[in-house]
Amino acid sequence: MDFRDQHVDPTVRDRARAWAERHVPPEWAARERATGTHHTPELHRLLIDEGILGAAWPAEYGGSDVDPAFSRAVFDELNRRGLATGAWGSTGMVCRTILEVGTEQQKRTYVAAALRGEVLIALGYTEPESGSDVASARTRAVPDGDGWVINGQKMFTSTVEACTHVFLLTRTNPDVPKHKGLTLFMVPTDDPGFDLRPIHTLGGQRTNATFYTDVRVDDAARVGAVDGGWAVMHVALVYERGAASRSSKELTLARELAAWAADTRRPDGSRVLDDPHVAERIARMAIDEEVARLITFSLRDKVERGELPRATSSMRKLFATTAAQRHYADAMDILGAEGLLSTGAPGSPADGRFEHGYRAEVVTTIHGGSSEMQREIIAEQHLGLPRGRPRG
Ligand SMILES: Cc1cc2nc3c(=O)[nH]c(=O)nc-3n(C[C@H](O)[C@H](O)[C@H](O)COP(=O)(O)OP(=O)(O)OC[C@H]3O[C@@H](n4cnc5c(N)ncnc54)[C@H](O)[C@@H]3O)c2cc1C
Repeated sequence: MDFRDQHVDPTVRDRARAWAERHVPPEWAARERATGTHHTPELHRLLIDEGILGAAWPAEYGGSDVDPAFSRAVFDELNRRGLATGAWGSTGMVCRTILEVGTEQQKRTYVAAALRGEVLIALGYTEPESGSDVASARTRAVPDGDGWVINGQKMFTSTVEACTHVFLLTRTNPDVPKHKGLTLFMVPTDDPGFDLRPIHTLGGQRTNATFYTDVRVDDAARVGAVDGGWAVMHVALVYERGAASRSSKELTLARELAAWAADTRRPDGSRVLDDPHVAERIARMAIDEEVARLITFSLRDKVERGELPRATSSMRKLFATTAAQRHYADAMDILGAEGLLSTGAPGSPADGRFEHGYRAEVVTTIHGGSSEMQREIIAEQHLGLPRGRPRG
């Protein structure tokens, strides 16, 4: 691939920055941080109305003709301003999956409605007894006339409080090996049998336990074949690990920390950045951030050529999230005691942005599959090493 094509054109980035300057008040990020809900309805509406969200989606399902590079630059800019767009993130992953494995009717129903802003979708895979071993899901879906009745519980159903649907992994056949009896459904969250309970995490993000009691769905809500859910999950998890991302997931901590260190003086009057140990650590961060960006480009290039790059998506997720954890730990060292001050506390560096990042990055190595699971996938799929765990 030609990496030159992938770098953000500075004029496009300036346009995106000016767009965000005009449209995005700082209160939105503050509200996401305060509530832990990674969704801002006003922003979502704006991105739809301006065609930014629909860039690079097929026109027949509501995609727009906005330049995808501009759309990516806007998402980078939102990210830089602390807006997480998590509900759209999970919706995009599911819609990309539906484009691959769904029926024509589902593409017209869910994808088109999502691009109009009428549908938002949360991921309902993890259960109290099955996370990494997601194929052990026990939530039951039983045929009932021309539909299905669902009973069970999920854990960590993030941003569902803002969503219209859950993309729900269920067990439809308990009498076969666990990977062979799974089926996915689009479950509406306004069903009277649906309930949720918030869970607040270390990183400030709100996620949820969700409960399904005699929830009834039509067969048209089934995504993929009956008992064919494992093949659907293969597609969905690749998209979750970065392949569905429209932003370049640009990591900007090195630049922000360098700016802080250049502006901040120690008691002896020297700039923090003049300390060679500080400069070296920031340089190492910048190198890692560039590597993460290049893996993202390579991933996107493969997706755009029609591949489903399972190992590359795991490499991107593993490298970017573990590097970010190291970087925020380094940042806390460099900032010293003041680095512990949160947003709003007098004297907190960058108004608590580094402190928040330090907590928020802890969970990124867990959701979407833990680092250990990513290493197993890379070992098996990329290096051809023998499988490290027994087949279920
Ligand atoms: C903030 C947050 C948001 C989330 N959002 C969602 C969501 O929206 N939807 C959803 O469905 N899920 C979500 N999750 C759940 C997430 O995907 C799971 O937490 C993750 O898959 C790990 O599962 P677990 O928590 O059950 O841990 P476990 O599977 O119990 O793992 C515990 C530890 O054992 C290790 N381990 C387990 N099996 C192996 C193995 N075979 N080899 C080596 N090591 C192993 C793991 O790496 C981990 O370190 C979210 C989680 C968090 C923290």
